[in-house]
Formats: sequence, structure tokens, C-alpha cells
Amino acid sequence: MYPRRIAVIGTGYVGLTTGACLASLGHSVCCADVDPQRVERLRRGEIGMREEALAELVEAGIAAGRLIFAVGAKAALLELAQRAGPAEVVFLCVPTPMGVGGAADPTLMEATVEEIRAVLAPGAVVVNKSTVPVGTAARTAGLLGRDDVAVVSNPEFLREGSAVDDFMHPDRIVVGSDAQYAAERVAALYSKLGAPTQLTDAASAEMVKYAANCFLAMKLSYVNALSDLCERLGADVVEVTEGMGYDKRIGQRFLSPGPGWGGSCFPKDMHALLQIADGAGMDFELIRASLNTNLTTHRRVAEKVRDAAGGSVAGRRIGLLGLTFKAGTDDLRDSPALAVGRLLHADGADLVGYDPGCPAAIPGLTDGIMVVDDPEAAAKGAAALVVLTEWPQFRMLDWAALANLVETPVVIDTRNLLDPDVLRRAGFAWMGLGRS
Ligand code: NAD
Repeated sequence: MYPRRIAVIGTGYVGLTTGACLASLGHSVCCADVDPQRVERLRRGEIGMREEALAELVEAGIAAGRLIFAVGAKAALLELAQRAGPAEVVFLCVPTPMGVGGAADPTLMEATVEEIRAVLAPGAVVVNKSTVPVGTAARTAGLLGRDDVAVVSNPEFLREGSAVDDFMHPDRIVVGSDAQYAAERVAALYSKLGAPTQLTDAASAEMVKYAANCFLAMKLSYVNALSDLCERLGADVVEVTEGMGYDKRIGQRFLSPGPGWGGSCFPKDMHALLQIADGAGMDFELIRASLNTNLTTHRRVAEKVRDAAGGSVAGRRIGLLGLTFKAGTDDLRDSPALAVGRLLHADGADLVGYDPGCPAAIPGLTDGIMVVDDPEAAAKGAAALVVLTEWPQFRMLDWAALANLVETPVVIDTRNLLDPDVLRRAGFAWMGLGRS
């Protein structure tokens, strides 16, 4: 491996992590974003997201002169060319949100390709790191219309909250291209990581990302449905999944029930795969069923809260512990906690929410919830407390003190996170998910 000149377009969870990590591996990187204020903050080393070790890496990259920022994709290529030389590899890490009918919307990707096509140096490699429909690499090549520029698919598998660690210690690196030299150049960028690397065709690489994410979402839907059945039959889902997980073909991970799965990837990728299959003349029933199970899970949790509040939440104060889609992140996108919150709000509940990753209300996302910055404020006068995100610090709360603040001492623990004995000793009735 020798250092490359790299442009990264989009500085969100994927783009900024990619840029900072590649800079730390010795490459010269220019990261671009459309948001000038974001770029300004990044130049000062302010990353604007909760992501373990990322701020330190960005700071180190800036200090070493290997990480710079620009406003806009074209500007990034020009700035890199001026500072270090023309970009040899350009990573596209822009959003591919859910579009009409559930398909991934490629508008931003296509606009970026349009923007850079004329300024790409001969021999450059354009890499799709965003999650894109199968066939996007081929369409990107068509849009570029450049025989001297190759396109590679290199899907990203990092998880928010541990993005840097996942990038630096990946389970695998998947690189797909119909141009061998381009795939090898991209794979070589990661050679220091020593991860298993799969070189394949572009369409298969694009499919791997959907196949993996949707499998994980289906696994969670299965476990959530199983937890419902356990509850009805008097079995304990924690015991059941432990027994299942010892089977090496299944494994212990992704076997914990919860209020539903969410985040910026699973829901949109599930809908996108359904659309991809539909476009190919196939009804992917498993995906459809898993999506429905997820909605059922939200409803089931809301129903539990209603039951705990004596049959109705109308006009009752309900304390929500956790708003983000999982612990360790500040990301509220498609959070199952908020989905449950919306159901309770529709039933007339007076919601107060506390989350260590979300200290204040975010218009458009937390609407209907009074966001407070300490758990005591969420507990005060509550007819029920609902644990919706698996923040480990919830285990350490002073539950005896909270019991004195609530109206009714009942906790619905949708993550089976807390120790029921501790809760009972503190005076709470504790209800988990799928537990006898
Ligand atoms: P994000 O929303 O966190 O960040 C995207 C950034 O791109 C924003 O800062 C935005 O301002 C910027 N941007 C938008 N249009 C731009 C343009 N034309 N030029 C330059 N910058 C532009 O997005 P993300 O979570 O990093 O996701 C990016 C892609 O990676 C998506 O396709 C997503 O599905 C995929 N992905 C995400 C994750 C994850 O955990 N977040 C993991 C793997 C893959």
C-alpha cells in the first residue's frame, strides 16, 4: 500500500468516519459536504455527532495535514488537486433516503456524479460507499460517461456508536467492480487493516449490503415475535434465546427483543429490498412479513404501557427513558422509541422523555414529547416509566429515588435491560418483554 489522494463526498456518519480513518492510515483526504456551516465546524475539529473516538481522529488528521475539508464535491477535488495532487479515489457517502414507494432515492448520488464528472482526473476511481440499489455502479458509469474513470462498489457496514472501531476492525471488506485494477486499488487502501477482503462484481457487492442488513432486521423481527409468544406461553425469552444462541449456526448476537428495530438504515434498506425484488418480478414475502412484525411490535409495546397505566394513557404522564434508536448514538432517525411515543401520543398521553444522547427537543423528530435533561424530570408524576433504549447508565439510576417521584411505580422495560430484583427492592413493579 502507498498513500493515495482521496476525496470523500458527504461528511455524515459514513463519510466523516471514512475520511478520518483513511487519513489515519496515511492517505491524503479531502472531505466535502454541501453544508458550509458543517464544513466550517469540521475545520475547527467539531464533528457535531456522538461517535466514539471520531473527534480525536479528525483532530489528528487535521494536525498532520492529511485531512482537509471543502464545501461541495467539485471544490473538494479542486482543493485536493491544489494541495496534494489530483484525487485518485473518490468515495461517495451521500444519503440515499427512502424515496417514493420505498425505493432508495439516488438523486443526491446522481447530482454528485454530475458535479464531479468533468473535474475527475484521468484514471480516477469513483467508489459508491452509500447503500445503493443493485445496478447503481453501472448507472454511475453511464452518468460519468468517462472511459478513463472506473466505478467501484464498496458498501459500508459500520454501526453508529462504534463507527471508528468498526471501520478499523471490519468483519470483512467487500469491493465490487467490473474493472479489476480499480477494485484492487480500493482494496489496497484498507490493506493495513488485515481484514478478509472479498473482490467481486459490482452488482453482487451492492446486493451484499442489502442482504446483510435485511437479514439482521429479519432476525430481530423473529426475536420480537418470539418474545410475544414466550409471554403468552409463560416461557422466558431470555432463557430461550440463550439456548438458541449456543448453536453456532445462530450465534448470541442480535437475539435481544426490543420495542422494534429502527435507525437510519434497517427500515429504509428493508423497504428498498422489497422494491428491488418487486422490480425484478418477485414478492419478497419474508421482508414484507418482517416489516409488518416490526409495526406489530411497536403496537404491542404501546399496549403494554396502556395496560400498565390502568387501561388508558389519555391525560396521563408517561416517562420515556431513551429516545435514540439504540444506545451510544445521538441518532433519532426512525427510532422505535419515537414510533412507540407517537402511538402513545395519539392516545392522548402526556410524554416526557430523557435520553443521554439527546439532551434537547429536535423539531420534526421529538414532536409530542417534552424532552428533559435528567431522568428525575422524566419520572416526576409518571403513571409509568418505559425503558426504550438500552443505555447501560439506566441500570445505575437511583431507582429508589425515582420511585418517590413517580405517580405509579411501574417500569415497562422493553429492552430487558434492568435487574428486576433491584427494581422490586426499589418499590417498582417491573415488566420486561417476553419474560414470564
Ligand atoms: P448522514 O445523513 O449522516 O450524512 C450525509 C452527509 O452528506 C450530510 O452531512 C449531508 O449534508 C451530506 N451531503 C448531502 N448531499 C451532499 C452532496 N451533494 N455533496 C456533499 N455532501 C452532501 O448519512 P450517513 O448515515 O453517513 O449515510 C450515508 C450513506 O451510507 C447512506 O446511503 C446510508 O444508507 C449508508 N450507510 C449508513 C450507515 C450508518 O450507520 N449511518 C452505515 C452503513 C451505510
